Amino acid sequence: MAVTTGSDRARATLAFLRRKITTGEWPVGSRIPIEPELAEQTGVGRSTVREAVRSLASIGMIETLPGRGTFVRSAAPTSSLLNEFLTDFTLEEILSYRRALEIEAAQQAALHRSEEDILALELAATEEVGCTRCPVLGFADGGDSAFDSKFHRLIFDAAKNRLLAALYSGINERLRTPEHRGRLANVATGAEMERDHARVLDAIRRRDFIDAVHAMVEHVDHDVVIVNDQYEVVPPLTRTPEQQQRIDVAREAQEKAQL
Ligand SMILES: [Zn+2]
Repeated sequence: MAVTTGSDRARATLAFLRRKITTGEWPVGSRIPIEPELAEQTGVGRSTVREAVRSLASIGMIETLPGRGTFVRSAAPTSSLLNEFLTDFTLEEILSYRRALEIEAAQQAALHRSEEDILALELAATEEVGCTRCPVLGFADGGDSAFDSKFHRLIFDAAKNRLLAALYSGINERLRTPEHRGRLANVATGAEMERDHARVLDAIRRRDFIDAVHAMVEHVDHDVVIVNDQYEVVPPLTRTPEQQQRIDVAREAQEKAQL
């Protein structure tokens, strides 16, 4: 890098690291190279690298886990303003808002997806096969990629709505905080996740925004849920038996129509 002053070097280092993330060279969920390697790649001192890493962490793009390394959290900066704003809301409110975002993103993805989006979603769905849980919010076992679901994030990319994506990134960040994370569980099995993701993907591929909404509704109602002290699932939406019956009848009719 052709830079001279200290602040130039700091800025250039930050831009270098940020570009690695925004271009996807370092995908969300991946671990970034260690400090000495980054210092060598950028030609600056380790303290400058450390400063750039801290700065990216402060805007939610990366996170350093002691003893494990530094991981890419978000391909877009998460607004600290949004983060602060969300601290005023309960877990129930935030999770229900996440539900709305996921469903709306699936609908918009069905309308706006490109061929590249479909290829990326197919690849992500294939990579997630064999996970014991949907890796959304890090509810998966093992591996560095377990911190975020590429599949869910790519749906927001396909929706082509930057505001939806930024809000999603912000609420995920909030849900991952220890105070909330401990009250959340993923009750969908790996097989259910594969089936759900395949249905969502199929609807988006066919540009069927109605099916995309229905498929995502089914998925978000069991991929991340709130549990009480007895580890019982708190239903995302409380429905009367009559309301549930209406949903079941509609689903059966739809499944029959697809046969
Ligand atoms: Zn999922």
